[in-house]
Amino acid sequence: MDMLKMDALEEGGIYRITARNFFVGAWNGTNGFIGIRQKFSDRYLFTEYHHDYSPHVGTARPWEKVGQVPEGVELIERTPTECSDCGRPAHFERDDPGSPRGHWFHADGSPVCEGGAVTLTYQPLFDVLEPYRKAEDERWIEEENARKSNKEGSS
Ligand SMILES: [Zn+2]
Repeated sequence: MDMLKMDALEEGGIYRITARNFFVGAWNGTNGFIGIRQKFSDRYLFTEYHHDYSPHVGTARPWEKVGQVPEGVELIERTPTECSDCGRPAHFERDDPGSPRGHWFHADGSPVCEGGAVTLTYQPLFDVLEPYRKAEDERWIEEENARKSNKEGSS
């Protein structure tokens, strides 16, 4: 099977891909696929760039379309940063221009609450992709088992 080129991809299309961290991803319409990455016990949305987008960071090769992200679900990894206690939007301000140090504030300029600012994985897209990820993992396990039993049969 040939890899799909970028201009053949549909924005919001869900594709079977070969990439470093996952095997199903939604095309973001410009340069990459958003998929579910697992790191230790954490699972979150992450972008892998198309192989043709950049020889340096492009790790994803798409093979076929398997689904479509529904209307109304955004193609983003994370929610905008918010205060973990009150849920209001939060933004970062440097203590001094050019300084890496700074603090998080609510939109009205008051410091964020005790829990600090958080950015969360964008759950609506995660929920859309999860069944596709699961199906792809199961398909992969079946193929592996078939390969193994073929080997045993031929030896
Ligand atoms: Zn707050």
